[in-house]
Amino acid sequence: MRTDGRARTSRRDLLKAVAAAGAGAILPAGLLSAQNSRQTAGTNPRRIDVHHHFATPSLTPGPIQQWTPAQSLEQMDKFGVATALLSHPGDGGLFEGTEKARTLARKVNEFGAKVVSDYPGRFGLLAVLPFRDVEGSVKEIEYALDTLKADGFGITSNNGEKWPGDPALLPIFQEFNRRKTVVFVHPFVNKCCRQLVTGVADSVVEYDFDTTRAITSLLYNGVLSQCPDIRFIVTHSGACVPVLAGRIKDRVPGANSSNTSNTGIAPSNHEGKNEKIPKGAYYELKKLYYECAHASYPMPMAALMKFVGPSQLLFGTDYPAEPMETTIDNLPSDGLSPEVLRALARGNAERLFPRLKSKT
Ligand SMILES: [Zn+2]
Repeated sequence: MRTDGRARTSRRDLLKAVAAAGAGAILPAGLLSAQNSRQTAGTNPRRIDVHHHFATPSLTPGPIQQWTPAQSLEQMDKFGVATALLSHPGDGGLFEGTEKARTLARKVNEFGAKVVSDYPGRFGLLAVLPFRDVEGSVKEIEYALDTLKADGFGITSNNGEKWPGDPALLPIFQEFNRRKTVVFVHPFVNKCCRQLVTGVADSVVEYDFDTTRAITSLLYNGVLSQCPDIRFIVTHSGACVPVLAGRIKDRVPGANSSNTSNTGIAPSNHEGKNEKIPKGAYYELKKLYYECAHASYPMPMAALMKFVGPSQLLFGTDYPAEPMETTIDNLPSDGLSPEVLRALARGNAERLFPRLKSKT
């Protein structure tokens, strides 16, 4: 999410000064390529942004309270985004497990669906659920898909109480699987872990830590194996998942117990299989999709590209929580080929959301 804006401001000032002087040659190579990347975007507005937030009058988290569709469209046009999949970043009101939470989810989804229909082709909807309420969530899945024609669902990395692999929530994932839908997993800070460290905002590390908890909980509890038709999207280049994948594999409960040494810890040359993960931890984690919002820096992208193939990469911006530049300006430094960049920008998202498939 949003960080200190001073670095971006000084970069913008520098670009402005250089443009005024008509002396592009004095720009460092990284800034030149970022500038070129934006210009290309302007002439070829075709990206699909799978991490893009909306706010509603009934559910309004602080930083994006003032959101309007026009504000998104202006930035999308500026940065070459053809279509944005709208999701809500999460709000405790959805987790009360009450009728009020069901009503709130319904209002949010109807608001999002209206934005989608008001601007044909520019937005899609990843609907919210009253995520603590299993029966209410299953009903909302049906309504969102059948009546509102949602493109998928946005869930939070926990529901204020439990992480998504908890057996109590399995019926929700079984329904997602039955409908073969896309499920976008967005960070949400559980009450256990708010403001744990003095001087360090939750958005700096806790968002990615909780996303990693959520994915590990889905893996270890067998949800990823039991629900193979869900297409999960992990935010921010996979949070810590690509870096921790080896450790997650090695600690799969009971994995390769016959090879377990007297330390009780399995050796690292096994595949992280058990009865809940029969195909192994890497198999399940490599099937997920990973979007690059505010994590297109060379370091997370290098880790991600070591772990998954180009077919799993998606473009996201986290707008309006993050300015689009924070993602787009870093893509040129990642060393990705034009083919991989095209797959990331649009091609892979077309597979997930066939209605967005380009007619050209
Ligand atoms: Zn977000």
